[in-house]
Amino acid sequence: MKENKIQYQMPLEFVKKVQATLQEKKSLEGELKYTQKDGREIWFQNSIMPILDDNAKQIGEVIVRYDITEKKNFEKMAITDPLTGLYNRRYFNEILAREIKRSQRDKTRLALMMIDVDYFKKYNDSYGHKAGDDALVAVADSLKNSSKRASDFVFRLGGEEFGILFTIEDEDKAFAFAQLVKKNIEKLQIPHSNSKISKHITISVGLLVVNFENEMVDENGFYTMADDALYQAKASGRNQVMMHENEELDFF
Ligand code: GH3
Ligand code: MG
Ligand code: MG
Repeated sequence: MKENKIQYQMPLEFVKKVQATLQEKKSLEGELKYTQKDGREIWFQNSIMPILDDNAKQIGEVIVRYDITEKKNFEKMAITDPLTGLYNRRYFNEILAREIKRSQRDKTRLALMMIDVDYFKKYNDSYGHKAGDDALVAVADSLKNSSKRASDFVFRLGGEEFGILFTIEDEDKAFAFAQLVKKNIEKLQIPHSNSKISKHITISVGLLVVNFENEMVDENGFYTMADDALYQAKASGRNQVMMHENEELDFF
């Protein structure tokens, strides 16, 4: 059989880690991703173990490498919304729990924007369901482009509802970020002749910022408060950001 000629170079950082681990006569496991020329991603699970002689001197190593691309693709599919390519609601639940724990530990502020497209039922009624789907994809792309930090997570929570979970320095910056997100949707200038608030597609945003240095909120509370703020944004006329006032949380 012809040997597979493609060589996958290990990243230098990983090689250094391998060398250090082998020197300590320990084993190492790690997943590595390679991007092929055609853009296709290949994943490998690597296990590396030292071979020791009777005097515990290292005389070699064993490297076992599995192709885990298929498993990785399944994992990605399970957390991705098929229409928009954003993270799905299932992953939101997982990440929210994880980020709350991390924020408690690091005593940082965690924020959530709950985002809902305004008068979207009327949009479907005017332009059809396919155009509605296209508009949701455009909205999703805009949300993604607005969220540039590695600590920003963008989700499609369901229907025409989205969420952005992010770590931020203070409330003012969180509010400015939410305003930018809202403005960028207006800038898309997607015509919406039946909207009562604008000629174009707009969003309402409920914003919650929790300072975990002196506040304590669980996942349910976090979600409910952001959703309340969104409800306020809708009730106050739509196409706006409403920040949840959470003084009652300061019980430390
Ligand atoms: P509001 O400003 O109060 O949010 O009004 P709305 O019409 O946006 O809210 P409502 O909840 O009454 O309607 C949401 C609409 O979103 C209804 C549904 O047809 C549409 N929708 C939900 N998911 C999808 C989808 O995946 N594709 C399309 N095209 N439309 C969707
Ligand atoms: Mg809705
Ligand atoms: Mg809506």
